[in-house]
Amino acid sequence: MKSFLLSSLLFSTILAGVVPRATEKVDYHGFKVLRLELTEKSAKVEAKIEELVAHVLNPGTSSVLDVVVSADKVKAVSAFAKKSTVITEDVGLALEGEGGISAYSVPSETWFTAYHSYADHMQFIKDLQASFTSNSEIITAGTSVQGRVLTGIHIWGSGGKGSKPAVLFHGTVHAREWITTMTVEYIAWQLLTKYGSDASVKALVDKFDFYIMPIVNPDGFAYTQTNDRLWRKNRQTVSGNSCVGRDNNRNWSYKWEVTGGASTNPCSETFKGLAAGDAPENKGMMAQVTSLRDGKGLRLYIDFHSYGQYILWPYGYNCNLVVENDAQHRSLATAAAAAIKAVSGTAYTYGPSCSTLYATTGSSTDYTDVVGNATYSYTYELRDKGNSGFVLPVNQIQPTVRETWAGVVSMLKSA
Ligand SMILES: [Zn+2]
Repeated sequence: MKSFLLSSLLFSTILAGVVPRATEKVDYHGFKVLRLELTEKSAKVEAKIEELVAHVLNPGTSSVLDVVVSADKVKAVSAFAKKSTVITEDVGLALEGEGGISAYSVPSETWFTAYHSYADHMQFIKDLQASFTSNSEIITAGTSVQGRVLTGIHIWGSGGKGSKPAVLFHGTVHAREWITTMTVEYIAWQLLTKYGSDASVKALVDKFDFYIMPIVNPDGFAYTQTNDRLWRKNRQTVSGNSCVGRDNNRNWSYKWEVTGGASTNPCSETFKGLAAGDAPENKGMMAQVTSLRDGKGLRLYIDFHSYGQYILWPYGYNCNLVVENDAQHRSLATAAAAAIKAVSGTAYTYGPSCSTLYATTGSSTDYTDVVGNATYSYTYELRDKGNSGFVLPVNQIQPTVRETWAGVVSMLKSA
Protein backbone atom coordinates (compact mmCIF):
# COMPACT_ATOMS: atom_id res chain seq x y z
CA MET A 1 0.00 0.00 0.00
CA LYS A 2 1.23 3.47 -0.84
CA SER A 3 1.78 5.93 1.97
CA PHE A 4 -1.31 7.84 2.88
CA LEU A 5 -1.69 11.53 2.25
CA LEU A 6 -4.62 12.25 4.47
CA SER A 7 -4.41 14.36 7.56
CA SER A 8 -4.20 12.22 10.66
CA LEU A 9 -6.03 14.92 12.62
CA LEU A 10 -8.98 14.75 10.26
CA PHE A 11 -8.86 10.98 10.34
CA SER A 12 -8.99 10.71 14.10
CA THR A 13 -11.88 13.20 14.24
CA ILE A 14 -13.90 11.12 11.83
CA LEU A 15 -13.07 7.89 13.60
CA ALA A 16 -14.01 9.35 16.96
CA GLY A 17 -17.50 7.95 16.60
CA VAL A 18 -16.15 4.45 16.10
CA VAL A 19 -13.11 4.08 18.34
CA PRO A 20 -14.28 3.40 21.88
CA ARG A 21 -12.97 4.86 25.06
CA ALA A 22 -11.10 2.30 27.12
CA THR A 23 -14.15 0.80 28.79
CA GLU A 24 -16.57 0.82 25.85
CA LYS A 25 -17.03 -1.93 23.32
CA VAL A 26 -17.78 -1.09 19.70
CA ASP A 27 -21.37 -1.94 18.80
CA TYR A 28 -21.39 -3.08 15.17
CA HIS A 29 -25.16 -3.34 14.85
CA GLY A 30 -26.15 -1.38 11.77
CA PHE A 31 -22.68 -1.64 10.23
CA LYS A 32 -22.29 -3.37 6.86
CA VAL A 33 -19.41 -5.11 5.12
CA LEU A 34 -19.10 -3.78 1.58
CA ARG A 35 -16.91 -5.18 -1.17
CA LEU A 36 -15.77 -2.23 -3.27
CA GLU A 37 -14.47 -2.74 -6.76
CA LEU A 38 -12.37 0.28 -7.62
CA THR A 39 -11.57 1.35 -11.15
CA GLU A 40 -7.89 0.88 -10.33
CA LYS A 41 -5.60 0.49 -7.33
CA SER A 42 -5.12 3.98 -5.98
CA ALA A 43 -3.54 4.90 -2.67
CA LYS A 44 -5.31 8.25 -2.74
CA VAL A 45 -8.76 6.72 -3.18
CA GLU A 46 -8.01 4.02 -0.62
CA ALA A 47 -6.97 6.71 1.86
CA LYS A 48 -10.24 8.59 1.29
CA ILE A 49 -12.20 5.40 1.83
CA GLU A 50 -10.22 4.59 4.96
CA GLU A 51 -11.27 7.99 6.36
CA LEU A 52 -14.92 7.03 6.11
CA VAL A 53 -14.96 3.43 7.22
CA ALA A 54 -14.57 1.76 10.61
CA HIS A 55 -12.14 -0.87 9.25
CA VAL A 56 -10.53 -1.98 6.04
CA LEU A 57 -10.61 -5.79 6.28
CA ASN A 58 -8.07 -6.53 3.54
CA PRO A 59 -5.73 -3.53 3.53
CA GLY A 60 -3.19 -3.51 0.72
CA THR A 61 -5.30 -5.53 -1.68
CA SER A 62 -5.22 -4.43 -5.28
CA SER A 63 -8.46 -2.93 -6.51
CA VAL A 64 -11.03 -4.76 -4.37
CA LEU A 65 -11.55 -3.56 -0.83
CA ASP A 66 -13.69 -5.17 1.89
CA VAL A 67 -14.70 -2.47 4.38
CA VAL A 68 -16.86 -2.18 7.50
CA VAL A 69 -19.00 0.93 7.29
CA SER A 70 -21.85 2.47 9.26
CA ALA A 71 -25.21 2.63 7.46
CA ASP A 72 -25.12 6.41 7.07
CA LYS A 73 -21.79 6.30 5.23
CA VAL A 74 -22.61 3.50 2.79
CA LYS A 75 -23.58 5.93 0.06
CA ALA A 76 -20.49 8.11 0.47
CA VAL A 77 -18.16 5.11 0.49
CA SER A 78 -19.87 3.42 -2.46
CA ALA A 79 -19.38 6.58 -4.51
CA PHE A 80 -15.66 5.76 -4.74
CA ALA A 81 -16.28 2.38 -6.35
CA LYS A 82 -17.48 1.33 -9.77
CA LYS A 83 -19.25 -1.54 -8.07
CA SER A 84 -20.26 -1.99 -4.45
CA THR A 85 -21.65 -5.24 -3.06
CA VAL A 86 -23.05 -5.81 0.41
CA ILE A 87 -21.32 -8.88 1.86
CA THR A 88 -22.69 -8.60 5.38
CA GLU A 89 -25.98 -6.77 5.98
CA ASP A 90 -25.42 -6.28 9.69
CA VAL A 91 -22.04 -6.92 11.29
CA GLY A 92 -23.61 -6.85 14.76
CA LEU A 93 -25.92 -9.73 13.84
CA ALA A 94 -23.00 -11.62 12.28
CA LEU A 95 -21.07 -11.26 15.53
CA GLU A 96 -24.02 -12.70 17.45
CA GLY A 97 -23.88 -15.67 15.06
CA GLU A 98 -20.15 -16.13 15.67
CA GLY A 99 -21.02 -17.92 18.89
CA GLY A 100 -19.33 -15.70 21.48
CA ILE A 101 -16.62 -16.83 23.86
CA SER A 102 -17.10 -20.10 25.71
CA ALA A 103 -16.20 -21.04 29.25
CA TYR A 104 -12.95 -22.89 29.91
CA SER A 105 -12.76 -26.63 30.09
CA VAL A 106 -9.67 -28.81 30.36
CA PRO A 107 -7.98 -29.68 27.05
CA SER A 108 -10.08 -31.97 24.93
CA GLU A 109 -11.13 -31.89 21.31
CA THR A 110 -14.30 -29.97 22.24
CA TRP A 111 -11.95 -27.01 22.75
CA PHE A 112 -12.08 -26.63 18.97
CA THR A 113 -15.83 -26.12 18.85
CA ALA A 114 -15.81 -22.58 20.28
CA TYR A 115 -13.80 -19.38 20.53
CA HIS A 116 -12.12 -18.57 23.82
CA SER A 117 -10.84 -15.72 25.95
CA TYR A 118 -7.18 -14.74 26.05
CA ALA A 119 -6.86 -15.98 29.63
CA ASP A 120 -8.36 -19.34 28.70
CA HIS A 121 -6.00 -19.72 25.74
CA MET A 122 -3.07 -19.23 28.12
CA GLN A 123 -4.57 -21.83 30.46
CA PHE A 124 -5.12 -24.24 27.55
CA ILE A 125 -1.48 -23.95 26.51
CA LYS A 126 -0.30 -24.57 30.07
CA ASP A 127 -2.68 -27.50 30.64
CA LEU A 128 -1.83 -29.10 27.31
CA GLN A 129 1.90 -28.87 28.00
CA ALA A 130 1.44 -30.14 31.54
CA SER A 131 -0.12 -33.32 30.13
CA PHE A 132 3.01 -34.10 28.06
CA THR A 133 5.94 -33.00 30.18
CA SER A 134 8.37 -35.60 28.83
CA ASN A 135 8.54 -34.11 25.33
CA SER A 136 7.34 -30.52 25.66
CA GLU A 137 7.95 -27.30 27.53
CA ILE A 138 6.48 -23.81 27.70
CA ILE A 139 8.47 -21.26 25.71
CA THR A 140 8.28 -17.48 25.52
CA ALA A 141 9.32 -14.89 22.94
CA GLY A 142 9.46 -11.54 24.64
CA THR A 143 6.74 -9.29 25.98
CA SER A 144 4.00 -7.17 24.40
CA VAL A 145 3.46 -3.42 24.74
CA GLN A 146 1.14 -4.00 27.69
CA GLY A 147 3.36 -6.58 29.33
CA ARG A 148 1.81 -9.85 28.18
CA VAL A 149 4.37 -12.60 27.58
CA LEU A 150 4.32 -14.18 24.10
CA THR A 151 3.81 -17.80 25.10
CA GLY A 152 3.95 -21.08 23.25
CA ILE A 153 4.95 -24.75 23.38
CA HIS A 154 8.18 -26.43 22.29
CA ILE A 155 7.62 -30.08 21.28
CA TRP A 156 10.33 -32.61 20.52
CA GLY A 157 10.60 -36.32 19.79
CA SER A 158 12.88 -39.28 20.29
CA GLY A 159 16.07 -37.36 19.48
CA GLY A 160 15.62 -35.26 22.60
CA LYS A 161 15.03 -31.57 23.18
CA GLY A 162 16.63 -29.26 20.63
CA SER A 163 18.18 -32.03 18.56
CA LYS A 164 16.38 -31.47 15.23
CA PRO A 165 15.81 -28.66 12.71
CA ALA A 166 13.23 -26.16 13.92
CA VAL A 167 9.65 -25.76 12.71
CA LEU A 168 8.14 -22.47 13.87
CA PHE A 169 4.44 -21.58 13.75
CA HIS A 170 2.99 -18.17 14.62
CA GLY A 171 -0.70 -17.43 15.05
CA THR A 172 -2.83 -14.36 15.76
CA VAL A 173 -0.32 -11.74 14.69
CA HIS A 174 -3.40 -9.91 13.46
CA ALA A 175 -5.70 -9.64 16.42
CA ARG A 176 -9.04 -10.19 14.70
CA GLU A 177 -7.97 -13.40 12.93
CA TRP A 178 -9.40 -15.66 15.64
CA ILE A 179 -9.46 -18.82 13.52
CA THR A 180 -5.65 -18.75 13.44
CA THR A 181 -5.41 -19.10 17.23
CA MET A 182 -7.58 -22.20 17.09
CA THR A 183 -5.64 -23.63 14.14
CA VAL A 184 -2.19 -23.23 15.68
CA GLU A 185 -3.43 -24.72 18.95
CA TYR A 186 -4.93 -27.63 17.02
CA ILE A 187 -1.55 -28.39 15.48
CA ALA A 188 0.09 -28.48 18.92
CA TRP A 189 -2.80 -30.58 20.20
CA GLN A 190 -2.47 -33.11 17.40
CA LEU A 191 1.31 -33.40 17.68
CA LEU A 192 1.17 -34.02 21.43
CA THR A 193 -1.95 -36.15 21.79
CA LYS A 194 -1.27 -38.37 18.73
CA TYR A 195 2.45 -38.87 19.30
CA GLY A 196 1.91 -42.07 21.25
CA SER A 197 -0.74 -43.59 18.99
CA ASP A 198 -0.23 -42.39 15.41
CA ALA A 199 2.95 -43.52 13.64
CA SER A 200 2.78 -40.75 11.03
CA VAL A 201 2.54 -38.06 13.73
CA LYS A 202 5.36 -39.71 15.69
CA ALA A 203 7.54 -39.61 12.57
CA LEU A 204 6.99 -35.85 12.24
CA VAL A 205 7.65 -35.12 15.91
CA ASP A 206 10.81 -37.25 15.77
CA LYS A 207 11.97 -35.35 12.68
CA PHE A 208 11.70 -31.77 13.95
CA ASP A 209 11.69 -29.57 17.02
CA PHE A 210 8.39 -27.67 16.96
CA TYR A 211 8.05 -24.16 18.35
CA ILE A 212 4.36 -23.26 18.38
CA MET A 213 3.09 -19.80 19.30
CA PRO A 214 -0.72 -19.46 19.06
CA ILE A 215 -0.94 -15.74 19.94
CA VAL A 216 1.96 -13.43 19.05
CA ASN A 217 -0.13 -10.24 19.34
CA PRO A 218 -1.69 -10.78 22.77
CA ASP A 219 -2.63 -7.14 23.45
CA GLY A 220 -4.46 -6.82 20.15
CA PHE A 221 -6.20 -10.15 20.69
CA ALA A 222 -7.35 -9.15 24.17
CA TYR A 223 -8.57 -5.83 22.73
CA THR A 224 -10.72 -7.66 20.16
CA GLN A 225 -12.50 -9.27 23.10
CA THR A 226 -12.88 -6.23 25.32
CA ASN A 227 -13.30 -3.34 22.88
CA ASP A 228 -13.27 -3.88 19.14
CA ARG A 229 -13.79 -7.33 17.60
CA LEU A 230 -12.30 -6.11 14.31
CA TRP A 231 -9.03 -4.67 15.67
CA ARG A 232 -5.94 -5.78 13.67
CA LYS A 233 -2.75 -4.18 15.03
CA ASN A 234 -0.90 -4.20 18.35
CA ARG A 235 -1.68 -1.55 21.00
CA GLN A 236 1.40 0.63 20.74
CA THR A 237 0.99 4.39 20.76
CA VAL A 238 2.81 7.06 18.76
CA SER A 239 3.82 10.25 20.54
CA GLY A 240 1.64 13.18 19.45
CA ASN A 241 -0.89 11.02 17.60
CA SER A 242 -4.16 9.66 18.92
CA CYS A 243 -4.21 6.62 16.65
CA VAL A 244 -3.03 3.35 18.16
CA GLY A 245 -1.22 0.30 16.88
CA ARG A 246 1.54 -0.93 14.67
CA ASP A 247 0.92 -3.67 12.11
CA ASN A 248 3.25 -6.38 13.44
CA ASN A 249 3.39 -7.94 9.99
CA ARG A 250 4.87 -4.74 8.52
CA ASN A 251 7.37 -4.16 11.33
CA TRP A 252 9.96 -6.95 10.86
CA SER A 253 13.34 -5.42 10.16
CA TYR A 254 14.09 -6.98 6.75
CA LYS A 255 13.27 -4.51 3.91
CA TRP A 256 11.20 -2.51 6.40
CA GLU A 257 12.40 0.71 4.77
CA VAL A 258 11.16 -0.16 1.27
CA THR A 259 8.13 1.91 0.23
CA GLY A 260 4.87 0.66 -1.24
CA GLY A 261 4.08 -2.28 1.03
CA ALA A 262 2.98 -0.63 4.27
CA SER A 263 1.68 2.68 5.60
CA THR A 264 3.53 5.47 7.39
CA ASN A 265 0.23 6.78 8.78
CA PRO A 266 -0.34 5.69 12.41
CA CYS A 267 -4.09 5.59 11.73
CA SER A 268 -3.77 3.05 8.93
CA GLU A 269 -4.44 -0.66 9.37
CA THR A 270 -0.96 -1.30 7.92
CA PHE A 271 1.07 1.25 9.90
CA LYS A 272 4.67 0.01 9.74
CA GLY A 273 5.94 1.77 12.90
CA LEU A 274 8.50 4.53 13.30
CA ALA A 275 11.55 2.29 12.93
CA ALA A 276 12.29 -1.25 11.83
CA GLY A 277 11.37 -3.70 14.55
CA ASP A 278 10.19 -1.05 16.99
CA ALA A 279 7.20 -3.11 18.15
CA PRO A 280 8.17 -5.12 21.24
CA GLU A 281 6.33 -8.17 19.89
CA ASN A 282 8.55 -8.04 16.79
CA LYS A 283 11.68 -7.72 18.91
CA GLY A 284 10.64 -10.94 20.66
CA MET A 285 9.77 -12.77 17.45
CA MET A 286 12.96 -11.68 15.67
CA ALA A 287 15.07 -12.86 18.61
CA GLN A 288 13.23 -16.17 18.50
CA VAL A 289 13.87 -16.61 14.77
CA THR A 290 17.57 -15.76 14.96
CA SER A 291 17.99 -18.02 17.98
CA LEU A 292 16.48 -20.98 16.07
CA ARG A 293 18.62 -20.10 13.05
CA ASP A 294 21.73 -20.19 15.22
CA GLY A 295 20.67 -23.50 16.77
CA LYS A 296 19.74 -26.39 14.52
CA GLY A 297 18.48 -24.07 11.81
CA LEU A 298 14.97 -23.16 10.72
CA ARG A 299 13.47 -25.70 8.30
CA LEU A 300 9.90 -24.42 8.07
CA TYR A 301 8.13 -21.27 9.21
CA ILE A 302 4.41 -20.68 8.84
CA ASP A 303 2.64 -17.45 9.78
CA PHE A 304 -1.10 -18.14 10.07
CA HIS A 305 -3.54 -15.44 9.00
CA SER A 306 -7.08 -15.12 7.74
CA TYR A 307 -8.90 -14.65 5.43
CA GLY A 308 -8.71 -15.41 1.70
CA GLN A 309 -7.54 -19.06 1.36
CA TYR A 310 -4.00 -18.46 0.17
CA ILE A 311 -0.67 -20.17 0.67
CA LEU A 312 2.04 -17.58 0.02
CA TRP A 313 5.82 -17.52 0.14
CA PRO A 314 8.47 -14.80 -0.31
CA TYR A 315 8.92 -12.25 -1.44
CA GLY A 316 6.45 -9.64 -0.25
CA TYR A 317 8.59 -6.57 -0.83
CA ASN A 318 9.37 -7.09 -4.50
CA CYS A 319 7.06 -8.63 -7.09
CA ASN A 320 9.91 -9.38 -9.51
CA LEU A 321 12.12 -11.38 -7.17
CA VAL A 322 11.71 -15.09 -6.48
CA VAL A 323 13.38 -17.10 -3.75
CA GLU A 324 16.16 -19.40 -4.92
CA ASN A 325 14.11 -22.47 -3.96
CA ASP A 326 10.89 -21.11 -5.47
CA ALA A 327 10.19 -24.42 -7.20
CA GLN A 328 10.41 -26.33 -3.90
CA HIS A 329 8.19 -23.75 -2.20
CA ARG A 330 5.68 -24.20 -5.00
CA SER A 331 5.89 -27.98 -4.79
CA LEU A 332 5.11 -28.07 -1.05
CA ALA A 333 2.34 -25.49 -1.44
CA THR A 334 0.76 -27.39 -4.31
CA ALA A 335 0.71 -30.60 -2.27
CA ALA A 336 -0.65 -28.79 0.79
CA ALA A 337 -3.46 -27.17 -1.19
CA ALA A 338 -4.36 -30.59 -2.61
CA ALA A 339 -4.34 -32.13 0.87
CA ILE A 340 -6.66 -29.39 2.15
CA LYS A 341 -8.99 -29.81 -0.79
CA ALA A 342 -9.11 -33.57 -0.27
CA VAL A 343 -10.42 -33.09 3.28
CA SER A 344 -13.19 -30.62 2.61
CA GLY A 345 -13.13 -29.30 -0.92
CA THR A 346 -11.81 -25.92 0.27
CA ALA A 347 -9.83 -24.33 -2.56
CA TYR A 348 -6.60 -22.47 -1.93
CA THR A 349 -4.66 -20.19 -4.25
CA TYR A 350 -0.87 -20.22 -3.93
CA GLY A 351 2.20 -18.35 -5.15
CA PRO A 352 4.85 -15.79 -4.18
CA SER A 353 3.10 -13.26 -1.96
CA CYS A 354 3.75 -9.98 -3.78
CA SER A 355 2.79 -11.20 -7.22
CA THR A 356 -0.07 -13.40 -5.98
CA LEU A 357 -1.73 -11.06 -3.45
CA TYR A 358 -0.08 -7.70 -2.84
CA ALA A 359 3.15 -6.01 -1.83
CA THR A 360 4.14 -6.15 1.83
CA THR A 361 7.25 -4.71 3.43
CA GLY A 362 8.62 -5.68 6.83
CA SER A 363 6.74 -8.98 6.65
CA SER A 364 7.45 -12.09 8.68
CA THR A 365 8.18 -14.45 5.81
CA ASP A 366 10.67 -12.16 4.06
CA TYR A 367 12.49 -11.94 7.40
CA THR A 368 12.45 -15.67 8.12
CA ASP A 369 13.58 -16.45 4.57
CA VAL A 370 16.53 -14.06 4.44
CA VAL A 371 17.54 -13.23 8.00
CA GLY A 372 16.27 -16.47 9.52
CA ASN A 373 17.72 -18.51 6.65
CA ALA A 374 14.62 -20.72 6.78
CA THR A 375 14.44 -23.42 4.13
CA TYR A 376 10.69 -22.81 3.77
CA SER A 377 8.66 -19.74 4.77
CA TYR A 378 4.91 -19.55 4.23
CA THR A 379 1.93 -17.41 5.05
CA TYR A 380 -1.39 -19.22 5.24
CA GLU A 381 -4.53 -17.14 4.81
CA LEU A 382 -7.22 -19.43 6.21
CA ARG A 383 -10.98 -19.51 5.55
CA ASP A 384 -12.98 -18.00 4.16
CA LYS A 385 -12.99 -15.78 1.07
CA GLY A 386 -14.85 -12.91 2.72
CA ASN A 387 -18.42 -14.03 3.28
CA SER A 388 -17.78 -14.35 6.98
CA GLY A 389 -14.26 -12.96 6.90
CA PHE A 390 -12.78 -12.71 10.38
CA VAL A 391 -16.11 -13.54 11.99
CA LEU A 392 -15.97 -17.18 11.00
CA PRO A 393 -18.91 -19.00 12.66
CA VAL A 394 -18.08 -21.55 15.35
CA ASN A 395 -19.36 -24.41 13.20
CA GLN A 396 -16.47 -23.71 10.80
CA ILE A 397 -13.73 -23.98 13.44
CA GLN A 398 -13.37 -27.77 13.33
CA PRO A 399 -13.60 -28.05 9.53
CA THR A 400 -10.97 -25.31 9.21
CA VAL A 401 -8.50 -26.66 11.74
CA ARG A 402 -8.83 -30.19 10.35
CA GLU A 403 -8.27 -29.26 6.73
CA THR A 404 -5.38 -26.97 7.67
CA TRP A 405 -3.78 -29.73 9.72
CA ALA A 406 -3.84 -31.90 6.59
CA GLY A 407 -2.07 -29.16 4.63
CA VAL A 408 0.55 -28.67 7.33
CA VAL A 409 1.19 -32.43 7.66
CA SER A 410 1.70 -32.60 3.92
CA MET A 411 4.33 -29.85 4.14
CA LEU A 412 6.06 -31.45 7.14
CA LYS A 413 6.42 -34.76 5.33
CA SER A 414 8.35 -33.12 2.48
CA ALA A 415 10.19 -30.37 4.36
ZN1 LIG B 1 -3.38 -11.20 8.94
